[in-house]
Amino acid sequence: MRLSRFFMPILKENPKEAEIVSHRLMLRTGMIRQQSQGIYSWLPLGKRVLDKVNAIIREEQNRAGAIELSMPTLQSAELWQESGRYEDYGKEMLRIRDRQDRPMLYGPTNEEMITDIFRSSVKSYKSLPLNLYHIQLKFRDEIRPRFGTMRSREFLMKDAYSFDLTQADAIHSYNKMFVAYLRTFDRLGLRAIPMRADTGPIGGNHSHEFIILADTGESEVFCHKSFVDFDIPAVDTDFDSVEGLQAIFDKWTSVYAATSEMHDAAAFDSIGEGERLSARGIEVGHIFYFGTKYSEPMGAKVQGPDGKEHLVHMGSYGIGPTRLVPAIIEASHDENGIIWPASVAPFDAVVINMKAGDQACDSTCERLYAALQNAGKDVLYDDTDDRAGTKFATADLIGVPVQVIAGPRAVAAGEVELKDRKTGARETLTIEAAINKLTA
Ligand code: ATP
Ligand code: MG
Repeated sequence: MRLSRFFMPILKENPKEAEIVSHRLMLRTGMIRQQSQGIYSWLPLGKRVLDKVNAIIREEQNRAGAIELSMPTLQSAELWQESGRYEDYGKEMLRIRDRQDRPMLYGPTNEEMITDIFRSSVKSYKSLPLNLYHIQLKFRDEIRPRFGTMRSREFLMKDAYSFDLTQADAIHSYNKMFVAYLRTFDRLGLRAIPMRADTGPIGGNHSHEFIILADTGESEVFCHKSFVDFDIPAVDTDFDSVEGLQAIFDKWTSVYAATSEMHDAAAFDSIGEGERLSARGIEVGHIFYFGTKYSEPMGAKVQGPDGKEHLVHMGSYGIGPTRLVPAIIEASHDENGIIWPASVAPFDAVVINMKAGDQACDSTCERLYAALQNAGKDVLYDDTDDRAGTKFATADLIGVPVQVIAGPRAVAAGEVELKDRKTGARETLTIEAAINKLTA
């Protein structure tokens, strides 16, 4: 992408309305724009990051055996009347009437709809286990939307729903998502801690929130420090091994971790002074096992091996991609701007032409830009005629992991400079060597 042709409306000043660093940086870099309270457009730079986050979520869901579909944002109130939640949900639900005066709603979640899809076609235990997910917009009329897309009214959620014949099978499905979540957050460059959680209006009795520690987090959390050293389950984890997944779950839930709603002060105080952590955190994911809470009122049954009808045991599993993007920034930035983990960076590298219009600089940059693109890299080429200082500041601000700097003196010697955004380390290489290094 040539910066001169890109759409990246950078703000010169810090926006006044932003209270936390991620919100400030997302506005300054032109990643998002508020359209009305708690409702955002994702501009091209932000969209690139969001897409990369979604791709990682998708890969790990698929690896764990979940299957993607897509359900609509608008739902008929009827299904929610069946489950009893149409009345219970309260003011967070946006209720709409269509031209025939039928009650509709903008989905805040999809348990009812997925249960309806399930009951309409699955009749036998032989089709189980089944886990279906989508990545779709939700609407919740939050009383206090704030911090940009961290807590918005319209937001993206990956929501998965599992169906099993028995409670024991459902716990295995739960463990699959537990492990998929550990892997997902790790690949996003985050250390998320699973904490026992309250089940809220969704109901049920087996639930964990995945929390990232950050001073600006809205949740108060208490945990043992040892989480920092726990190993993330490997890519070749066998998701069909009931014992194997249970062992990972047991390990990750063996030490104390709870949000304020579930906090047990006595248990926490029994941890040694230097071993405990009381901090603030951001909830980035939430998983529930809720048994037959929806299958019962909505009549979702399958025939078991005994020939009898059984209500299915369900769970639901949410991750918030539009909250994860600011959460990653909260965890990874410095005074100059964002520092993207390579896995979600909007570009792999930025080529900075320090003297656009200078023939040697231009041709070197064109060569670098073409070579990196041909190697399948996402490259931003700053071909604008801004001053070099402005270009460096922009590159630091938007947090692309590697900067390839082409200035007249280096170029005359057949060289360019590489700068690592995170460490600030610089090295001078021949153009050839730079291309080899970046495409290795
Ligand atoms: P919170 O306590 O933060 O309101 P929740 O418990 O209501 O979250 P869930 O219903 O468990 O959230 O939703 C699953 C995930 O969706 C959350 O872990 C979070 O990542 C995301 N999410 C929920 N509400 C919002 C929101 N208003 N804006 C952005 N992301 C959200
Ligand atoms: Mg909420």
